Amino acid sequence: MTTVIREKPFSLAKSRRVIQWLAVIGTFVLGLRHIMPGEASRGGSFDSFCAFGGIETLLPYLSTGHLLKSTNLLNFSVLIATLGVSLVAGRAFCGWLCGLGALQDFIAEWTRKLLGERHHIRGKQSKAILPLRLPAAVDRPLRYAKYFVLVIILFASLYTAFPPLREFCPVRAVFSLKMTPLLWLALGIFLAGSILVERFWCKYLCPLGATLAIFNKISPVRLVTDTNHCNNCGRCDIECSMGIADVPINLDHPECVRCMECLNTCARDGSLTIQIRNKENVT
Ligand code: SF4
Ligand code: SF4
Repeated sequence: MTTVIREKPFSLAKSRRVIQWLAVIGTFVLGLRHIMPGEASRGGSFDSFCAFGGIETLLPYLSTGHLLKSTNLLNFSVLIATLGVSLVAGRAFCGWLCGLGALQDFIAEWTRKLLGERHHIRGKQSKAILPLRLPAAVDRPLRYAKYFVLVIILFASLYTAFPPLREFCPVRAVFSLKMTPLLWLALGIFLAGSILVERFWCKYLCPLGATLAIFNKISPVRLVTDTNHCNNCGRCDIECSMGIADVPINLDHPECVRCMECLNTCARDGSLTIQIRNKENVT
């Protein structure tokens, strides 16, 4: 039996926006704690709240019994919580809870506004020239870069004292408020990339996104298309910040961050629904 949760949740877009702002503010507050004296007595460094820090420090911990510097057991708790969300709802962490993901959505929106798109009409191609959608021949191979980054970091974590991504991490560059020349460079690349290509970091470089991608195939909460209602109008493709092609037939795609913007955009009731995966509705 198919369990349909909601058919046309217009409030999802607003709820997501509120949650994204809370994620940005929350991460910024962590950064503020980081620059105030006595951070260790307030639950650890900025780095210790990072889910990916848990991945970076896992192999060294298993092989030597020691955590990498600037990480602690809190990283594992944050990692387990992130994996728990992903087990239930795929890459929803990236689409709803990640401060960096939220910032990229905001930057894309602000860029379009600055370039003349005053009122965005859902499902209609933006007139603003940025952010771009890279041609598939460039975009597709670039998407594999994040898996390469993940493998390199896992390998490097066995030979470094600190988490390997730490010195280049855009989350630290944006939120930690303790800058180094390398973090300024990471910040510049992140900002320029996000202006040029929507969700640049998520699409091409994020090793946490690469880790969570597998969960879209197995998570029980998923989006499903009803081909009896969908007329392949393509409005959902236009609105997908991850640039997934043919959204109605690719809803379990590893790149989907479960933002639900396709669902919010679709004008044909019943075409897209959020469902609980069960034996009957697995396609
Ligand atoms: S799911 Fe909705 S928006 Fe997407 S192609 Fe079908 S009818 Fe159009
Ligand atoms: S397919 Fe839909 S839910 Fe997935 S990233 Fe694109 S717009 Fe968001």
